[in-house]
Amino acid sequence: MSRALEFASTVRHNGHGGLTDDLATVAGLAAWAHVDAVSEELRLRVVELRWAVRSLLARATNAGERLDTPHLMPLDDALHLVNDTSARVPRAARLEWEEPLRLRYVDRATEGERLLAELATAAIEFLAGGERADLRACPAPRCVRYFVKAHPQQQWCKPSCGNRARVSRHYHKARD
Ligand SMILES: [Zn+2]
Repeated sequence: MSRALEFASTVRHNGHGGLTDDLATVAGLAAWAHVDAVSEELRLRVVELRWAVRSLLARATNAGERLDTPHLMPLDDALHLVNDTSARVPRAARLEWEEPLRLRYVDRATEGERLLAELATAAIEFLAGGERADLRACPAPRCVRYFVKAHPQQQWCKPSCGNRARVSRHYHKARD
């Protein structure tokens, strides 16, 4: 899975009509991102960025009303936040004079700023990249996942979502 979709998938349906968020606590973010110095301030910024990325994914897939819709932001706000976060950590190419001559990218950012910029950049590269054509919002009831179709017939993010959708359709038909 691409880094952008991994990031978006940190929030998902909890099986009881609500959402589960891997980034709901500082410890959760530290475990997910493999970063030591996580503060509550950084966590809030990462979560805000995640909703911005999900807002762009929702737009790109024409996802309708879903469980996470109340968290989403207008396109301009989401785009600005993602672009601005990526731009905050400029990198410089640095030549290291040892054989073989080596190129390293360096920046002056803190670990937290680097994490934010890396996640924003991954989202930009993903949405502007070739995979976008096969990007879908899973249409199963309550599912909030996005996925890239692995084959043309794929309709659901995973088989269990297809089963849930069939059961739901059957239930509604039986009631009509
Ligand atoms: Zn699904």
